[in-house]
Amino acid sequence: MRLLIENAYVIPVAGDQFQGDIAVGDGRIIHLGPAGSVPEAFTPDETLDATGMAATPGLVNSHTHAAMTLFRGYADDLPLMEWLGEKIWPVEAVLTGEDIYRGSLLAGLEMLKSGTTTFADQYFEMDQVARAVEEIGLRASLCRGLIGIAPHADQALAESRDFIRNWHGAANGRITAMLGPHAPYTCPPSYLEKVLAAADELGVGLHIHLSETRTEIEQIQTEYGCSPIELMEKVNLFERPVLAAHCVHLSEADMEILAEKRVGVAHNPQSNMKLGSGIAPVARMLAAGITVGIGTDGAASNNDLNMVEEMRTAALLQKVGLENPTVLPAGQVLEMATVGGAKALGLAEQIGTLEVGKRADIVLWNLNQAHLCPLHNVQAHLVYSAGRADADTVIVDGRILMRGRRVLTVDEETILREAGCSARALVTRASSA
Ligand SMILES: [Zn+2]
Repeated sequence: MRLLIENAYVIPVAGDQFQGDIAVGDGRIIHLGPAGSVPEAFTPDETLDATGMAATPGLVNSHTHAAMTLFRGYADDLPLMEWLGEKIWPVEAVLTGEDIYRGSLLAGLEMLKSGTTTFADQYFEMDQVARAVEEIGLRASLCRGLIGIAPHADQALAESRDFIRNWHGAANGRITAMLGPHAPYTCPPSYLEKVLAAADELGVGLHIHLSETRTEIEQIQTEYGCSPIELMEKVNLFERPVLAAHCVHLSEADMEILAEKRVGVAHNPQSNMKLGSGIAPVARMLAAGITVGIGTDGAASNNDLNMVEEMRTAALLQKVGLENPTVLPAGQVLEMATVGGAKALGLAEQIGTLEVGKRADIVLWNLNQAHLCPLHNVQAHLVYSAGRADADTVIVDGRILMRGRRVLTVDEETILREAGCSARALVTRASSA
């Protein structure tokens, strides 16, 4: 399928902004340049008139738990450990594969409708998540969450291996897989050793929660006499590609390790705020040369999967935390939400910028609206003024998934109805268990 996007305000993220056209063929960007510059030999099957729209790379949600959309609004305003132990883990214990499929479809729909084209997910029954990703048409890096202190930890690792063998590179490469050790406080070094052996054998990276709360820092310090980051260095976790969610509480030594080992960090400002975890030192991490992407975390701790809002929160939170309005300017935040996330997921060669040769994951944002007028600075608008509903058209791998806000790949009404049924039944099962 050959697609021509005409007369957009193009923000490639790599290179200068311009008014012009983008040509897509075989799922890749084959040309971009000023209006009328597309070679005449290019004959599109479909042309999109993008007058009054900005074209950006699709947003990359670098950390979430998609199926947790089923728990949206179920348990709020509690401390992390109480929230997990008394509310979330009991409902997760009665989740079925079908629930996870429905919750993942709901999450995928929400992300698609807010301009997110790729997400990194850690959960259970990942076959069901992959099924949902395949159906909606998004791109995702998926891993099964591994709790080393749980009764069936070895079985979970075996499931991870099967999942990776079956799905890594599937859906025309839109699905990639990682191993997902949950966190240092749930995966002791002896278990991590097995996970790392599997990562080497399968040639995949790791997606882990690191240094999220002060409680975690204290617990690891008491048990191992070092920080979670130092502990992970000791077990050689960072000798493989690692996507580390949170990294809220870091020492200078921690930051040096993250920079030297090229760890990709997923910053989840709204989840950190809602759970009262703290403010991640994002400006300092970026200054130290660490790759930082932006994520929403699961919808039970956010409570939505809205990357547009997450960009604004990331910028504002650093500014207020450091009492400095110059940190995290709009352009840098947009980079984090696109190419930063792509790098953190190990996908920067394929996505994250609009460049010839990259996969065509493109969002067209409708700029012709009161809250985005006048157009002094479109990048600033996307970070400080835009809303998720400004995502008008979403293209992944050269395929149009949403056009004029109409989703073309799945039936929205069915997804909402089935997710609602699953969520209600879950709560009933959990309370009678
Ligand atoms: Zn998480």
